[in-house]
Amino acid sequence: MVSNPTTVSYRLFASGYCTAHDRIVDPKNGRGKARFYAVWLLIEHPQHGLFVFDTGYSPRFLEATQHFPDKFYGWATPAFIKNEETAMVQLAQTGIKPSDLSGMIISHFHADHVAGMLDFPKIPVICHSAAMQQVLSVKGFGAVRHGIVKALIPNDLRERVRIITEDSVISNKAIMRNPDELFSLQFKDLFGDGSVELAQLPGHACGQLGIRIHTADHTLFFATDAVWRKSTLEAGILPSPTVKLFFDDWAAYKTTFSALRNYQQTFPTHRLLFTHCPETLTHISSFNP
Ligand SMILES: [Zn+2]
Repeated sequence: MVSNPTTVSYRLFASGYCTAHDRIVDPKNGRGKARFYAVWLLIEHPQHGLFVFDTGYSPRFLEATQHFPDKFYGWATPAFIKNEETAMVQLAQTGIKPSDLSGMIISHFHADHVAGMLDFPKIPVICHSAAMQQVLSVKGFGAVRHGIVKALIPNDLRERVRIITEDSVISNKAIMRNPDELFSLQFKDLFGDGSVELAQLPGHACGQLGIRIHTADHTLFFATDAVWRKSTLEAGILPSPTVKLFFDDWAAYKTTFSALRNYQQTFPTHRLLFTHCPETLTHISSFNP
């Protein structure tokens, strides 16, 4: 944690990982299997308190994918997570109980981001309205196809959602009509003080959000699954087209990818990180594979 009590601070954690073919991440240079660590954040705001941003895996994912149709999910992305690695246990090791949190921000409802949600009952959930509507409406194979395991989603989600980004998913049609905005990203000021912003990152998943945090000494832009590996962003290499099977919107994904390339060139000093990128792990003090 950055120690200045007057500014927002954050800390990165990882809870488990899954494996997939590296060629999916990097069709040009990928070899063998890649590990996708499930990284999440603890954020401390001086007035608004403690928040988690995503939760990583929990052994609950392994239980929930014992049966069909969720079993297909476990086959597609074999997951590895121990009890002592969960967000709840790692927070407990830093002296934080689930009830100490002011809320939980969910980037999107893919299982590797939300498998720990049930460990944090009652607290408010902040997510995109489109993501919430999708997670509440999908069922069976439809849920699996969208990367959602319903057993991991709290039954009272609708009642607990306090803040949602109402400006629905950025319309690609609008962007097409307005070429000047082709490389723009939209941010929403979460607390109204400019310290923490939620970024709309459409394409990978319905209503996907990233988070930008301005600490005392740097700006973090944690752009979740908009890119899996920073080196592919820098080289302009898109993931394998096979991801279209479960991505929400491939055209929107490519637009977001271009916007992030532009962002990196415009703000080279910002710490641009992604949930599953190996570089992100170097910023986790407790990371111990
Ligand atoms: Zn995802």
